[in-house]
Amino acid sequence: MIIDAIFDLVSYRLHDQAHIVLDQSRCLQCDHHACAHSCPARCYEWSAERGRVEFAYEGCVECGTCLAVCDRGALDWHYPVGGFGVRFPR
Ligand code: SF4
Ligand code: SF4
Repeated sequence: MIIDAIFDLVSYRLHDQAHIVLDQSRCLQCDHHACAHSCPARCYEWSAERGRVEFAYEGCVECGTCLAVCDRGALDWHYPVGGFGVRFPR
């Protein structure tokens, strides 16, 4: 199964507050933007035009990759509060 096929199977119950928050001041010092290269859900996008990382939490599958690859401590990462977030098929 290719990774994109997963997104046809999952569903979400979204909370109105993001469960991952970026410290953009740290992202400004970042020269690799590893989050944007590694998130399987493409939640991150480096915008050279705006000079910042754009982030959308809604498609997050809670894999933790961004937290593992960010070496600048820019992420305040939590699972969504109970009952919210991604739902995988059984
Ligand atoms: S890897 Fe970390 S510091 Fe770099 S852009 Fe992503 S969140 Fe920001
Ligand atoms: S936890 Fe995984 S899916 Fe969610 S934003 Fe981070 S890398 Fe992307």
